[in-house]
Amino acid sequence: MTRPQTTQLLEGKKSAAAIREEAAAMVQELRAAGTVPGLALVLATADESAAWYTRAIARAGEKVGIDVRVERLADDASADVVRSALQRLSADDTVHGIILQTPLPPGVDGVEVAIAIAPEKDVDGGNPVSIGRLTAGLPAFAPATAAGVMRILDDHGVELAGRRVVVVGRSLVVGKPAAMLLLARDATVTICHSRTRDLAARTSEAEVLVAAVGRPRMIGAEHVGAGAVVIDVGTTPDEDGNLVGDVDAEAVTGHAGALTPVPGGVGPVTTALLLLNTVTAAARAAG
Ligand code: NAP
Repeated sequence: MTRPQTTQLLEGKKSAAAIREEAAAMVQELRAAGTVPGLALVLATADESAAWYTRAIARAGEKVGIDVRVERLADDASADVVRSALQRLSADDTVHGIILQTPLPPGVDGVEVAIAIAPEKDVDGGNPVSIGRLTAGLPAFAPATAAGVMRILDDHGVELAGRRVVVVGRSLVVGKPAAMLLLARDATVTICHSRTRDLAARTSEAEVLVAAVGRPRMIGAEHVGAGAVVIDVGTTPDEDGNLVGDVDAEAVTGHAGALTPVPGGVGPVTTALLLLNTVTAAARAAG
């Protein structure tokens, strides 16, 4: 292991501020032309961190001039109830973006119900149609977290074409779409998951490593190649409510070439992109 080297901190705050500014400027134009961008956040859980995240998106949306509404459903709502709320919002001309928050009530399959989100309003890419389109190289909203990973890499000038990239995690909201977006940029992508054998051997070969697991500090120095760019998507609340990443930042500092902080890395970029996607959807609807 080569040490020490300087590990660059890839912060998301500047990118997020630039995205919010872009969204706010578009909102001004749309409002002047008579369109008020609307975002609906659908919440069917009593989960505290989902409620906190929903409030954070709502506040950020209102700040850039989006009309945000929170649709609260019972935390034991059936799949039919969730689906019909999504269908109603999809048919509502004042709503341009729809986000279905997780967790969902027990027994409700997120992918199944997200099919009810109109693809043109699917600003967090939850409808499997959106992922299918992305995979086929067709225009679609990507899940905002995956898009946030790309934005951080781009804003810090990280080359992707031809490079070895490893994504740890294969969820439909982060790992898979991130891998597809990286592949579309000509990276050579490996996806690892809970059944991957000898994870450290796979991840330490990466020039760019994306960790999207949800296991605090599981990625240590042995998982990271010297000089690699490490994107930490993990956000697990600790007992004091502070967010902890998947990467052991202390262990990889001085070894990785660059690392996103948690909090302050992918998270703020993700939230800002949800707003920009909503405004983009409103602009498309306005023609
Ligand atoms: P998820 O649906 O639980 O998926 C976790 C993935 O990690 C799965 O594919 C799982 O593999 C894999 N995994 C679990 N244990 C592993 C191990 N020991 N070794 C290798 N892979 C392992 O989680 P998610 O929704 O993708 O979220 C991942 C993290 O990102 C969470 O901390 C979440 O809070 C965070 N997140 C952050 C943002 C943001 O804006 N920053 C947004 C969304 C999510 P299997 O498929 O084999 O089970």
